Amino acid sequence: MIIEEMLKNVETKTGIDYLEHREELKSIAKRIVYTGMIDEYFEYKLGELEWRSLKFEDVILENVDNFQGNAIVNYTSKEEKYTRIIEHKHFEFNKCTGTVITKEYPIKWKRGIEAYYPINDNKNNLLLSRYKELAQKEKNVIFGGRLGEYSYYDMDKVIEKALECVENEI
Ligand SMILES: Cc1cc2nc3c(=O)[nH]c(=O)nc-3n(C[C@H](O)[C@H](O)[C@H](O)COP(=O)(O)OP(=O)(O)OC[C@H]3O[C@@H](n4cnc5c(N)ncnc54)[C@H](O)[C@@H]3O)c2cc1C
Repeated sequence: MIIEEMLKNVETKTGIDYLEHREELKSIAKRIVYTGMIDEYFEYKLGELEWRSLKFEDVILENVDNFQGNAIVNYTSKEEKYTRIIEHKHFEFNKCTGTVITKEYPIKWKRGIEAYYPINDNKNNLLLSRYKELAQKEKNVIFGGRLGEYSYYDMDKVIEKALECVENEI
C-alpha cells in the first residue's frame, strides 16, 4: 500500500539489469539512484570487494511442533557449522502441527550469488575508498543502499539513509 502510493504516477519497470541497459537508461533520466554493487558498476576494474554469502538448508520436521521456541537462534561456537536457525512459524505465532526450520551456513561470495554481508576490513575498506573516488566523478548518479555503499544496514537504518539522501540530494 505504501509502495503503491509512492509509485503513483511514476513509470516503473522491473526485471531489468541496469548495467546491461545503462546507456539507454542514463539517456532518459536526469539523475540515477543506483542500488547495485559499487564495484560491479565499475566492472570490477580495481578488483572485487569481498562479501560473506549464505547457504540455506530447509528442514521439514513433521513430528516436531516447536523446535526452538523462537523465530531466530544464533550460533557462535566453532562446533556448529551454521550461524543461525530460523523457525518460520514463530514469526506469525502459527499453531499448526509440525514445523519448518532453515539453517544458515556462511559461504564465501563469488560472482552470480547473493552478496549478504560486507567484509569491512582494512583491505576492503581501502578498495571501497578507491571506488568511492570513481563514484564521485560519476555525474548524476547516486550510489545508495547496502550494495552501493558496501555497508551492512538494518531496514530502519537504510530507510533513514534514503530519507537523508532525499533531503540532501534531490
Ligand atoms: C541475511 C540478511 C538478513 C537480514 N535481516 C534483517 C533483519 O532481520 N532486520 C532488518 O532490519 N534488516 C535485516 N537485513 C537488512 C536488510 O535486508 C537491508 O537493510 C535492506 O535490504 C537494504 O536495502 P537496500 O535497498 O540497500 O538493498 P536491497 O534490499 O538488497 O536492494 C537492492 C536492490 O537493487 C537491485 N539491484 C542490484 N543490482 C542491480 C542492477 N544491476 N540492476 C537493477 N537492479 C539492481 C536489487 O535487485 C535489489 O532490488 C538483513 C540483511 C541480510 C543480508
